Amino acid sequence: MRDIYHSRVPWIGAFFAGLWCPRYWALTFGQTTWWTVGPELIDFHARRHEACHQRQFARDGRLRFLWRYAWEWLGGLFRYHRLRDAYLQISYEVEARKAEGD
Ligand SMILES: [Zn+2]
Repeated sequence: MRDIYHSRVPWIGAFFAGLWCPRYWALTFGQTTWWTVGPELIDFHARRHEACHQRQFARDGRLRFLWRYAWEWLGGLFRYHRLRDAYLQISYEVEARKAEGD
């Protein structure tokens, strides 16, 4: 597991999630998480969320994760016509949001 801070990479994800100016944002691929800010600003819930994505990558593999994530995002976009709703209903994101609190 690896964390990279003060990166612009996660803003790509924020765009596809329909979020234009969140306080900070993160993107996980495989066992690496890129954060837009330094570690001092990242809260417990966000850490749990991204750790869950790392477990999903370990469980399903990169190819399967990417394929399913993109497929569900596209399906959501057709269904809801909104980036934000397309993002929120992706099963990996639903699972990661559940992991934030428990
Ligand atoms: Zn997520």
